[in-house]
Amino acid sequence: MASRKQDKHINVALFVPHEGCPNDCMFCNQKAISGKTERLTAADVALAAETAIGSGKDTTGGEIAFFGGSFTAIDKDYRKELLDAAKPYIENGSFKGIRISTRPDFIDDEILMLLKEYGVTAIELGAQSMVDKVLKANCRGHLSEDTRRASELIKSYGFELGLQMMTGMYADTDEGTLYTADEFIKLRPATVRIYPTIVLKNTMLAELYYKKLYEPQTLGEAIEICAQLLLKFNAANIKVIRLGLHSGGGVEPDYIAGPYYPAFGELCESRVYFKKAADMLKDFPKGKYQLIVNKSEISKMIGQRRENLIKLAEMGYECRVLGSEDIIPYEIKISR
Ligand code: SF4
Repeated sequence: MASRKQDKHINVALFVPHEGCPNDCMFCNQKAISGKTERLTAADVALAAETAIGSGKDTTGGEIAFFGGSFTAIDKDYRKELLDAAKPYIENGSFKGIRISTRPDFIDDEILMLLKEYGVTAIELGAQSMVDKVLKANCRGHLSEDTRRASELIKSYGFELGLQMMTGMYADTDEGTLYTADEFIKLRPATVRIYPTIVLKNTMLAELYYKKLYEPQTLGEAIEICAQLLLKFNAANIKVIRLGLHSGGGVEPDYIAGPYYPAFGELCESRVYFKKAADMLKDFPKGKYQLIVNKSEISKMIGQRRENLIKLAEMGYECRVLGSEDIIPYEIKISR
C-alpha cells in the first residue's frame, strides 16, 4: 500500500471565477454566480503570496494554485496577468511552482508550452467521469477521449498530472464511478480529487431534482463509494489529495441537497479502516483484539462516536486501538 505523507508546506489557493466558460454543466452554478464573485487580480495574487511568505512558514515546497475549473479557457490577457503576477515568486524560489486546474478539451501544445514558460508545474483536469453517456447527460462538452489525450500530452511535457472526478453524477452508477477510477489509474495521474455531486441553486441539476428526475447520493452512499475509490487509488499508489467540497468554499449558501459534509474525507477514511479491519478479522475467531494503526490515524480507526468499534463489536470482535509509528497509514496489524 502507498504511504500518505502529510504535506507540511504552505500553498496559496486562488479561485478564478470562470466568466467566459463556454459550457453549461448540469451541476455547475458558475454562470449564475459570475459577476457576483469578485474578479481575482494580479494584486490579489501578489498579496496572497506575500502573506504566505510573511507567515514565517515554509513556502518553498508549496505552490501558487489557480483553481476554478477552466484556467486555460479564460481570456488570454487575463490569464497572462495572473501568471505574470505569480511568476516572480517561482523565479525567486519562494514557491516550488504554479498549479492550475482546467478542462480536458482546453489543452494543446501551444497552451502547454506557454504554461511551461511561466513555471506551471502541475495541471489538474476536471474529467469528472470517463463514461461518455454520463459526460453527455451532464452537458460537459467533452468526452473521455479528451481526458485521455490531454493527460498524455500533459505528462509528455513533464507536468505533474492531477485528475478530478465526481460521484453520484446524473445518469451515473456506482459501476460507472468505479470504471472512471480504473480508467484514471491507467492514465497514471500523480494526484486525484474526488467530489460527490451536490445540488446547488441555479443549476439544471436543481431543476431535475425538483422534478424528481434526479436523486442525489445519501451521505452514507457517498462515503461507501468514496471509500472504495480511496482503496483503489491507494493500491495503485496514486495520492487522493481531496475528498469532498471544501467547507467555507461558498457551497453553504447555494446548497440544496446532496452529501455535503465538512469532514467528508475523514468519514471516508474512517470507512476504509472499518472495511479493512472487518475484512481481516473475519479470518480470526470471535473475541478480544488489539488493532494497531499509524499513530496519527487512531481516530479514523475508532470512527466518529466510536462507530467502527461498535460495529466490530456487533460482529463479535471487541477491539482496542493502539498507535504505532512503524505502521503506514491504512495498514492495520491485529494482535490478541
Ligand atoms: S463545471 Fe467548469 S466547465 Fe462546467 S460550466 Fe462550470 S465552469 Fe464551466
